[in-house]
Amino acid sequence: MKMSSRLAWLALGWMMAVASGVSAAEPRVLRALLVCGGCCHDYPVQKDVLKRGIESRARITVETVQQGGTSKESRIPLYDNPDWAKGYDVVIHDECFGAVADTQWISRILAPHRAGLPGVNLHCAVHSYRAAPGDLWQEYLGLRSMKHGKATPIRIRTVDPQHPIIRGLGWRDWLTGDEELYNNVMVFPTATVLQRGAQGEDDCAITWVNRYGSTRVFSTSLGHFNETVSDERYLDLVTRGVLWACDRLDSKHLKAIPPTPPLRSTSPVTPQAKP
Ligand SMILES: [Zn+2]
Repeated sequence: MKMSSRLAWLALGWMMAVASGVSAAEPRVLRALLVCGGCCHDYPVQKDVLKRGIESRARITVETVQQGGTSKESRIPLYDNPDWAKGYDVVIHDECFGAVADTQWISRILAPHRAGLPGVNLHCAVHSYRAAPGDLWQEYLGLRSMKHGKATPIRIRTVDPQHPIIRGLGWRDWLTGDEELYNNVMVFPTATVLQRGAQGEDDCAITWVNRYGSTRVFSTSLGHFNETVSDERYLDLVTRGVLWACDRLDSKHLKAIPPTPPLRSTSPVTPQAKP
């Protein structure tokens, strides 16, 4: 290769690296899509809490989409586009559409995950699409749950302290405020349970990871009330789960993106009055 064309390639590589925010010292900022909406939860508040919580803990930008109103039957416009997940490194499912039972629709949601896109599922995402025949959504989650108990505190305990998500987490046990404990109808053999939750007589897997083909999937059924979702322990757990799903759970990614400096005011400077 001639020197001039080699230099041109080097320059092009440098420009692309600058354009995508990559430098030798800092890894690329990951792009997450958080999908929420549907029945029974305060998504207008929770989506912002999750976005701020994750972005202040990791090199991730979180874009949020809230669609579907408050119905559990909505088939949201986002998924109309077969390329709905294009350009994202991970999708955080936080939707609540338990009555959607169309298996073709569910397959469309799962297609990018089947192709390798990491998935994270929070609370009612675990109960979404559960009215459908078969186990399409549940094979992706690694668990089937059909109902939950009354809203009372859950005592969470760690069952896999050596898993990377748990190892660096700052807590092992947590007695939450009022919460919903999702039952376990089946835990699939591809899943690994990390935490269990006890509420009265019930004791269920509450946080787990799954291998969906070669795709990493992290789920927690915790997160009904704003008090839980806003808790530092919850946001730490979810952030580590998101990074693990992306195979980027390391010290380089566990730091907040530097905040964008505030824009300088373009208004003319008012001269100081003379004393
Ligand atoms: Zn709930």
